[in-house]
Amino acid sequence: MFWRVTGFLSAGSAEMDSSSRQGMHFIICIVSLEAPGQARRAKSVVMEFFSGSIGWIEVICGPMFSGKSEELIRRLRRAMIARKRVQVFKPVIDTRYSAEEIVSHGDSRMQSEVVSRGGEILDRVDWRSEVIGVDEANFMGESLVDVAQRLADSGKQVIVAGLDTDYLGRPFVPIPDLLCLAESITKTLAICMRCGNPGKHTQRLRGADDLIVVGAADMYEARCRRCFEPGIPKQTELDFLKGRKI
Ligand code: ADP
Ligand code: ZN
Repeated sequence: MFWRVTGFLSAGSAEMDSSSRQGMHFIICIVSLEAPGQARRAKSVVMEFFSGSIGWIEVICGPMFSGKSEELIRRLRRAMIARKRVQVFKPVIDTRYSAEEIVSHGDSRMQSEVVSRGGEILDRVDWRSEVIGVDEANFMGESLVDVAQRLADSGKQVIVAGLDTDYLGRPFVPIPDLLCLAESITKTLAICMRCGNPGKHTQRLRGADDLIVVGAADMYEARCRRCFEPGIPKQTELDFLKGRKI
């Protein structure tokens, strides 16, 4: 028999002493009591309490259309309701819907600041900020790892959202390193546009070899493991071009 953590139910914070800005943070994780080879038999909830203004890193990752931005905005709104000082950053490359806001595919929006790479966040951060949100972390480069660590070490709650794999299904820098360093990880799944199952892949629909090609539903769709076709768009385009010559 062994304990297995099966998921985080909730994470939040509560002010204990607003004058000294001491905070109590809590994470509830669901723990299952299981015997090897047997079905899950019992569930209990364990709460861990953190006192003081301890920092941490939360990562929200998954494919496009899986609700990463919606989840990031939801958490940041809750922090604002809790009267935390919140700062939000997004990469300059992503101006698909708005230049000054993070925007979800379902049109949730939140004001944000634009940076050209992760390292710039340290120049732009207001050190009074208590919660730092970062959207589209996969466009921020490797420097975001050190930035997130430094912000968390200085007592800030850092919430990072980004693609965990690229259009070929490969781990997408800097998310893998952030996953190792994070206190909390949320994997979001989309709906596969081919079969309706939960999908963890981002399917590029039109041919291009570049790692970063910014686009939305015109360029990408969510696919499950079975329906994902890495490299197929290029093939399709070549066939299409061949067909035109004939
Ligand atoms: P992400 O940040 O992961 O790209 P968003 O938060 O921007 O995701 O968008 C999530 C929203 O996208 C969903 O609430 C839904 O309205 C819409 N959506 C469009 N296509 C899909 C899909 N294939 N699966 C799930 N949601 C989708
Ligand atoms: Zn599928």
